[in-house]
Order: sequence, then structure tokens, then C-alpha cells
Amino acid sequence: VPSSLMTEEKILVSVEVCLKPSSTARINEIQEAVERMLEKRSLSYTDGPVPIPTDETFLLENVQRICICDTDEWVENHEILLFWQVKPSVHVFQLSEEGAGEESSGDGQLSSFNEWILPAKEFDGMWESLIYEPGLKQRLLRYAASALLFTEKGVDPFLVTWNRIILLHGPPGTGKTSLCKALAQKLSIRFSSRYPQCQLVEVNAHSLFSKWFSESGKLVAKLFQKIQEMVEEENNLVFVLIDEVESLAAARKAALSGSEPSDSIRVVNALLTQMDKLKSSPNAIILTTSNITAAIDVAFVDRADIKAYVGPPTVQARYEILRSCLQELIRTGILTEDQLFLPTYNSLREKLNVPDAKDSNTLLHLPKKLLEAAEVCEGLSGRTLRKLPFLAHAALSNPYSCDASKFMDTLIRTARREISEL
Ligand code: ADP
Repeated sequence: VPSSLMTEEKILVSVEVCLKPSSTARINEIQEAVERMLEKRSLSYTDGPVPIPTDETFLLENVQRICICDTDEWVENHEILLFWQVKPSVHVFQLSEEGAGEESSGDGQLSSFNEWILPAKEFDGMWESLIYEPGLKQRLLRYAASALLFTEKGVDPFLVTWNRIILLHGPPGTGKTSLCKALAQKLSIRFSSRYPQCQLVEVNAHSLFSKWFSESGKLVAKLFQKIQEMVEEENNLVFVLIDEVESLAAARKAALSGSEPSDSIRVVNALLTQMDKLKSSPNAIILTTSNITAAIDVAFVDRADIKAYVGPPTVQARYEILRSCLQELIRTGILTEDQLFLPTYNSLREKLNVPDAKDSNTLLHLPKKLLEAAEVCEGLSGRTLRKLPFLAHAALSNPYSCDASKFMDTLIRTARREISEL
């Protein structure tokens, strides 16, 4: 390696190390072992799993998987990151298998909130499964990371303003709620050395407006008292997810016009006051979602610093979502395919640009069908797209043996039907 290149500023790349549930190894010992292993590994860096060499017995014994993250922006620009350009930032974590803790709102049906210890097993892989235009997920991650850093360093909020409220808005089914949970999970992993404990509390806004209005005020108070207790522990990082905030705004408006009991306005106001209080806690991040873009109560919009529009998937995202579905059906043996070749969208586009190759190359038969399907699916949400392969499978004449290419024909037909019913 030329020494002039060694002095260039290095690119920080996150390396996530997931411990086996059984492992009792010390985090910093694992971290050092992974750093040594990466140093020896002198390869290029791209997103994805890193195999553990067979002579690394300590790692093999304790580590479930090692993954390189966040290099996609570079890959998008066709730049390859070589080992000497990179400074790996190793994050070691163990997934919590505790599952969700619930609290009922009192009517025995709707629970008013769910609670998880992060990083949780349920959210493992969620971040990777969500596909958006390049940069959206990275941007959110960076915003949140900067907000945590500013707080950590004690930047005076009178001189530089920022807060820790994130609002994701856009049509239903575009993955906003999932993205909030996945973001919390990511941050819990990335900030684990500063915050060894991390929790996510999901507030079900709808349930706060159940028939027990008079109970709701008490519920909000109880809930936030609990959150406040979590936040007081300074090594705790606490995420509060409030889904569909527009239902709060709507309830308030209805109350003002007199069509709803005035109890509801008290609930909303209580919630807003509590959110403001929580804002001053450096270790709390509030995540909110809304299915309405235009009509959200200004009270909410003003409170959020980080607002991101999450739209319906682009053709590239649709291709990638369907590609991951297809790979899963092939992995599980539901579909058969002799020559499995499913390139990424970008690499397929490049291949199709080569003259002649596009007609004669039989390898491209399946990817081309996938692309056709992605084009047909314009207007479908991510949620519908992930359901489509299931619906298509149910429509097969022989569901027990089907090759991928035939399956794609059924999938395209199913997609057309779904769209005609929109
Ligand atoms: P929203 O909160 O916007 O209504 P959800 O988070 O409930 O959406 O999304 C429902 C499901 O749809 C997700 O769990 C995910 O499987 C799928 N989905 C939605 N958008 C996407 C996307 N862009 N990429 C991958 N999957 C998606």
C-alpha cells in the first residue's frame, strides 16, 4: 500500500457482531478479536456477512454472525472500498429473546402499549428487509446519531437547536412503523457502548381513545411516569414510538368542535405535554408516524425535527422487494430453480444494456420476468408487495412443485388483479 494513501482520511464502516444466545464472552474481548481478524482479512468491504475463518475458535464459539453495514452508498457510486481505506467500527451485541411486554388499557382488549428490550430478536433483519431509494435509511440513521451526539456533548440548545423527535409520514403500508422499530434497533446496536441498556415503548394511540376516555388521561400519566423512570437511569436509551399521530390530532379537533367528549382533548394535551417533558431527556428519542401528509396537526409537525416522507416503492425498490421474496421461497424449497441467478436491479440494468446479450442470455430469463413484475406493480405498497408471492402461490394449479419462472407468470397475473382492485 503506497504510504501517501495511508494518510488519507479513512472511511468509517460499521461492522455488527451478533453473539450467540449462549455466549457469555466479554464484549470488549470479542470486539478486539474481531478487529484483529478484520486486520488480517485484507479484503474489500461490501455490505453483507463476513465468514469467520476456521482457525478463529474463540469467535466461532461465541459469534453467530458478523456483518458489514452502510457501504451501499459507495457501492451505488461503483466505488470499491479496500481494507486500507476503511476504519471498521465494531459493534458487538446479543439479541434479547424476552419478547414484548404488554399493558392493557383496561377494557381487556386493546393494549395501550408494548415494550421491548433492544436489540430484540423480533426486529432482527428488519432494517435490511426494508428497501427504499438509496440514502433514506442512512439519512435517518445519521440524523439520529447526530442528535444523540449533540446531547452527549452537551451542545447548548439555545445556541444550536435540535431535538430528538422523528416523524415519518406517507401513505399506509410503506413501512413507516417497521422503519421506526428497525431504526431503534440499529441505534441500540450502534450506541451500545454509551448506552448498555435500551428499550422501546410503543404507544398505541388508537387505544388511548377507547371508550374509556376518563381512563385515558390516567393511562397517559401512568405510561409516561413509567417512561420517565426508565429515562432517569442515564445508561438507558429509551425510544418511544407513537403510531398514527394523526388520530390524536383528529381527536383534538373533534373535541374542539364539540363532537367528542372534552376528555379526549385532555388526553391529547397530556400527551403533548409529556412529549415536551421527555424532550429534555438526553437519552430519549421519540419516533412518530402518520399516514396523512398534509393535515397533521401543526402541534405535532412543529415538534418534530426530523421529518421524512416515506413514499410508495420505486421500480428499483419493488424489484428488490420481490427479489428478496423470491429468494426466500427458493431457499425454503417452495420454488425450484436449477440455475438460480437473481442479480440486483442495478446489475441487471447493466447487463440489459449490453447489446445482443439481452436476448441470447438464457440466464437473464428469470431476472427479466422479475423486472416485468416490478414494473407491473406500480402503485402497490410495500406491504401488498410482500403479500403478493403468497397470493400467487395460492393461485397455483400445483402448489407442491413449481419452478420459479412459471411462478413469476402467476405472480404477474396476481399483481394485475390486485391493481385492478385498487
Ligand atoms: P406503515 O406503518 O407505513 O403502514 P408498516 O410498517 O406497517 O407500514 O409496513 C407493513 C409491512 O410492509 C412491513 O413489515 C414490510 O414487510 C412491508 N413493507 C412496506 N414497505 C416496504 C419497503 N419499502 N420495503 C420492504 N418492505 C416493505
